[in-house]
This record gives sequence, structure tokens and C-alpha cells, in this order.
Amino acid sequence: MIKSGAGMFDFMAAPEPRKQELPADALFASVALDRPLEGDLTYRVPPGAEIRPGVRVQVPLGARNEFGVVTKIGRDPGCDASRVRPIIRILDAEPLVTGDLIILSARIAREWACARGQAIAAMLPAALRRDRLRRTESIVKLLKRDFEIIEKMEEKEPDRYRVLRTLKEAGGELTMQELCRATKLSTSPVKTLAKRGFIKLERRIAEIDPLSRVRPVARTTAPELSIQQKAAVGAIRAALDARKHETFLLFGITGSGKTEVYLHALDDALRAGRGGIVLVPEISLTPQTVLRFRERFDDVAVLHSKLTDAERMDQWKRIREGRVRVVVGARSAVFAPVRDLGIIIVDEEHEPSFKQSNAPRYHARDVAAMRGELAGAAVVLGSATPALETWKRALDGKITLLKLMDRMAGGALPPVRIADLRHERARELNLGSNILLTRSLRLAIERALEKKQRTILFLNRRGFAPVLWCSGCGATVQCARCAVSLTFHRRVEKLVCHMCGREAPIATDCPMCGLPRPRLIGAGTERVEQWVARAFRNAHVARMDSDSTTARGSHEDILDRFRRGDIDILVGTQMIAKGLDVPEVTVVGVVDADSTLHIPEYTSSERAFQLVAQVAGRAGRSAHGGEVFVQTSMPAHPAIACAARHDFVTFAAQELREREKHRYPPFVRFIRVLAEHARDERAQEAVESAASAIRAANAPGVELLGPQPAPIRKIKGKSRWHFLIRCDPPESIEHIRDAVAQIALKSFHGIRLTVDVDPAGTM
Ligand code: ADP
Ligand code: ZN
Repeated sequence: MIKSGAGMFDFMAAPEPRKQELPADALFASVALDRPLEGDLTYRVPPGAEIRPGVRVQVPLGARNEFGVVTKIGRDPGCDASRVRPIIRILDAEPLVTGDLIILSARIAREWACARGQAIAAMLPAALRRDRLRRTESIVKLLKRDFEIIEKMEEKEPDRYRVLRTLKEAGGELTMQELCRATKLSTSPVKTLAKRGFIKLERRIAEIDPLSRVRPVARTTAPELSIQQKAAVGAIRAALDARKHETFLLFGITGSGKTEVYLHALDDALRAGRGGIVLVPEISLTPQTVLRFRERFDDVAVLHSKLTDAERMDQWKRIREGRVRVVVGARSAVFAPVRDLGIIIVDEEHEPSFKQSNAPRYHARDVAAMRGELAGAAVVLGSATPALETWKRALDGKITLLKLMDRMAGGALPPVRIADLRHERARELNLGSNILLTRSLRLAIERALEKKQRTILFLNRRGFAPVLWCSGCGATVQCARCAVSLTFHRRVEKLVCHMCGREAPIATDCPMCGLPRPRLIGAGTERVEQWVARAFRNAHVARMDSDSTTARGSHEDILDRFRRGDIDILVGTQMIAKGLDVPEVTVVGVVDADSTLHIPEYTSSERAFQLVAQVAGRAGRSAHGGEVFVQTSMPAHPAIACAARHDFVTFAAQELREREKHRYPPFVRFIRVLAEHARDERAQEAVESAASAIRAANAPGVELLGPQPAPIRKIKGKSRWHFLIRCDPPESIEHIRDAVAQIALKSFHGIRLTVDVDPAGTM
């Protein structure tokens, strides 16, 4: 049993001893706070209190009380003992953070330049980062459904209007968390609307998500493994038997039976009395994926971002108490308190979503390796398109490569046809039409419709058109607060900023030169949906992106309808690229493969290859076969050409050569330092003085790129400046860690800088 919550050990009432009267046997605790502080702080342990590393405590910091976790107990305060303040309360009878995780927190802090307390906070469910467990959640309900009044708010009160509209679209009810996420707003417009009687705020006992509840499912038995699968499982078992840490890369095309290998390896770990963690990208954490684990094991804890705090806490306790030994979850599940951890599996290990975007900016794959090392556990990284850094480690023999070369069900990978937009556009434009899908793709869709088969169209851009462009002056309409173009959303008939969520009316005249009717350029999912619905009048077309899935359960709802055949053509973003396993899908179209290639990041080729390979994997998962169409104006680009041949190995070899030539990761390591401030010169000053601090360290193998304005110059009204630190060779990062930690944990000219080690993006 874990006892936690307030009131267990309450020392509030105990009178404080006078400063000089410290007993000779006084104990001191190092406490890690969830703040960007340079080290743990020392506090005095109340006499007679039972306390161990890993318990939460409430301590004074300045005039406030803070929560922290004890990392160490000792007799030496390391400073003038009389100045050390006492712990106010001890919150847990037993440690919440245990041995390995305490050590891990220190490693994470060092690796990703954050405070140890921030790393520890990331390990705990939100409910435990605070005082007591809140079992309720805040629900927002729409009261006035009189939309005439609401429409009038549109112009003068755009934020409040947006709250009401979002609620209406979601069926009248959302949790506060869901609402704020969907609108990118704070809680304040919501509270104002409640005061004015438009909406009602209720607290209700958090329901436990039916998915996270133990629910009996029919058991399936494991199939006989193929020879390659047996070899992979055998290699992992050998590491498990030896209780020795080893990292494996399970490289296998989509449908080659990787998940089956995970299931067997997990089973081996459980038989040895150990537990396991399976990390999957959030977006593929669908019931379909989860079910495969449920069908095989008695009890599986599922951790995903839509859980309420209470649900997460419930799962966390079951894991901690050893009642459940298999955990399936997104990024932060790598910290699940599994007992005697035997194996960590990272599926789709190349996914950028394994990197956290705020402090601690850890990469779950790398944390898995650290934790595996501490626990003597096997770490299995699985992918059809491994990250180039992982691939290089396998080539260099640092991790063990296991291969699955054949598809288990549904035969070969589908043929990929490249639709060269340069030719097609020229031809079609002569006919004077605005064509989104090339002829060959249209014909394939027609054939599929005749046979009652299904189509997926992928485009990584939501909204109707990404750019409103004036042919007179060449200007595009930008957000007033962010240096990005506004996207036209037909659903709301507005221009929307994808950075800050702000909306603006669609301009009838160019805001720069006044010329009438700027043009909508380019296509997003809404435009493709509209176009396809017009081109195939008898087909049922649906769209799946973050705009069409605000309401609870809508994501699953669309997928169910697609599976049942109520939808023939599904248009969508990333959301449909992953994990979707519908045998009747025979046509897959990548509407615009170039959009990813054009992103100005050194990783854009890699991302484009991964996306095309991933989307292509959705087709031909049955005897019906399938075809993939990739629309591009760069057919010769290695990322496109190799993806069309399903040839990861050649692509990786070429791309690694490029990276080496240009001194990009994995041949070097990057650290990004970013300053944001309303006043441009303040942001510039801050990065410049941070850059001087790095230069002053004079570390060998360390080079600065910048400072300069960030590619996205402004977000939410804040100017952005940054620089990159290149560590070449990668090991030279060790020379600079202390200087980098200083930058991360101190403020420069009153500005807190963002320090990102191995950044996933540099925009
Ligand atoms: P991946 O995770 O690599 O995409 P899966 O493990 O999902 O591959 O396997 C793809 C399909 O093949 C699934 O339907 C799975 O049930 C089936 N499968 C996997 N291994 C075997 C096997 N050894 N025998 C029969 N079917 C298998
Ligand atoms: Zn904006």
C-alpha cells in the first residue's frame, strides 16, 4: 500500500526550535523543487520524523511554500546549519520515487540541462506534484444556445466567441483542459463567460476512462513465429536471462510482425517475474493498438494524454503496487514505476513526439536507454524507418540490429507510383482547371469506389488554404502577433493563426496595398475534402484532423465509421498516417509530398521519407492489394525516390553522407538557445550575453552558429532570437555542460532562456 496525500505527517503544529538550539543529531534533507534552480535545496528534518529519499515534502521558499522531493538525507547541511529552514510537512510515508528513478533524475538533469526537481516532477503524475489528489475535474457547459447573441460577439470579443463556438461544436460540453487546448486560450475568457451566464462551470468526480479500466477482453493465442521473429525474440531473451542491459534495434517494414516480437519479449519478461514498458507515439495510442496488448496479458496499464489526473493517479498506483506489470503509454510512461523492470520497448522510435518540448526536454528513447542501464533491462527500439542516429549506432555496432524483412500478412508492400506534378499541372492547367489530385490517382479512387474499397488521402496541413496572397503587391496576410501566414479555415469562415490560435476576418482587400480580392493559395485538408467530395459525388468523404476531432470520442468515431465502410474516402493529417489498420484500404494518396521537404530543417528529408513510408504502409494490408500515389514536383529527390522503392537502407546511407559532409547530427550534437521577449533588442541582448558565456568557456570542439533572429521571428507578440551550439565531435558536449546548465537555470538580462539539447526543431 502506498499512503500518500496530505495530513499523514503534519508538522505544521510543531513549534519551531530557536535557531541556536539545534540538537547535535539534527538531520538535513536535500530537496529537489520543480523550479529552474541550480541545485537541490537543504532543509532541516523535524526531530523524530521518519523520512526517506523519494518522499514529497512541503518546504518554505522565500515567502511561499513549495512542494519538493527529498533526494538525500544526511547530517551535514553543507552550510551554516542555523540558517537552514525546517521542512513544513512530510507528505508520504513511503517514497514515491524509488532508487533507480532518483539516480535517473540526476542523469536527465545533466543530459538535458534542467533542474533535477524538474526531472522528478516529470516522473510523477500531476496529482502528486501538488498537495493532495483532486478527484474532480472542471467541466464547462454551454447554457445559452441562442446563437444570434453569440454571433454578435464575434467581432468585439473574438476570444470569448471562440470559446462558445468550440463548445457548441463539441456538443455543448468539454472539460476545461480540453477547451483550453482546443482554443489555445487560458481559462480567463471561460471564467468571464461563466460570470455572464453563457456557460456553467461544474466540478464533477473524474470518471475513469473506460479504456483505462480493467475490462475483460477475449484472449488470443500467439501465432507460430517466423524464423526471423524467433531469432529476434531469442536475442532479446538472452539479454533478459542474463539480466544484462542491451539495446536492440528491431528494423522491420510495416506489417512485418514487430508487435508480435514485442508481445513475445514481454511475455518472456513476465515469466521471469519482471515487468515491461511499451512506449508508442501518442497519436497511435488507439484502442486498436492497446487491444493487442490486452488480448495477450492479464492486466495492462494504459497511460495517454487524455487521462484525467485522477485516472492517471489510479493507473500509477496500480503499477507502483505491482498489481500491473505491463504498461503501454506515450512518452512519459518511460517513468512508470514498474517493479523489477525487465524490458522497455519503444515502438516507432523515430517519432519526433518522443522528445518533450518543455523542460525537462528529454527524449524518451534516450531515457529508456538510461533507465534500461540502471535496471539491467533490455531496450528494444522498433521501426520501419529508424531515426538516422539510431541507424548509425546500429551500423557502428553500438546496439544490436535485428531484422524482419517480410510482411507477415497480406503479402508484399504496395507499389508506389510517383505522380510528377510538374507534368500533370502543365497538362491540366491548359484545361484551365484547378486540380488537386492527378489523373492517375483519380482513376485509382474511382476503381476503388466501384469495388467498395477505401481510400486514404494524406496532407500534413489543416484548414482550407495556408496563404492569402495579394497578386498586386505580393504580400501575404500575417498574424498580428506571430510572424506566420494566416490559414483560411472554411469551417469558421476565418483566417486562423496556427501558432497562437487567434482568428481574423477574411480580408476582402489586401491589407498592404488595398487591392481587392487577395487569392487563397495552396490547399489544406478542408480544401482537399471539398474538392474530393465534388469530384466523387457518390462517395462518402470525411476529414480527420485536429479541427474535426475536438469533441470527445470523435477521433474513434471517424475511425469506426471508416472501418465499417460508412466512409469511402478519408482525408487527413498525421492522425491517419499512424497505426491505422483497415484491410479494405487499397488506395493511398500523399497529396503533397513536397510540403515536408520544403521545411527549412536539416531533418526535412528524413521526415519526408518517414511520412511517405508510413502512409504507404496503410495500403495493401490484405489480399486486395493496394497502390500508393505520391504527388511531388521533386520525383528525383532521394527521400521520394527511395521511399517509392521502400528502400530505407539506400536512403539512410545517402542521407548520412550528407549529414557528415555538412556536420549535422548524428555526426555532431546541437544545443539550441532561444530568447523570447516583447522587445526585440531585449531578446537579442539576452542571447548575445548567453553566447558570450559559451564563448568564454573556450571549449574544444564547440562552435556557435548565430546568434541571429529565429526563423519564426515572432510568436504571440514576442520577438525571438536564438543560436545553436555545435558540438563536433559529439563527445565535446561534455566540455560545455556546466556553462549550458548555467544558461538554462539563470536568467540573462531578466529573461529566462530556453535551452534545448538535441532539439527536434530549430524554428
Ligand atoms: P508490425 O508491428 O511490424 O506492423 P504486426 O506485428 O502488427 O507488424 O504484424 C502484422 C500482421 O501480421 C498482424 O495482423 C499480425 O497478427 C500478423 N502476424 C505477425 N506475426 C505473425 C506470425 N508469426 N504468424 C501469423 N501472423 C502474424
Ligand atoms: Zn498568431
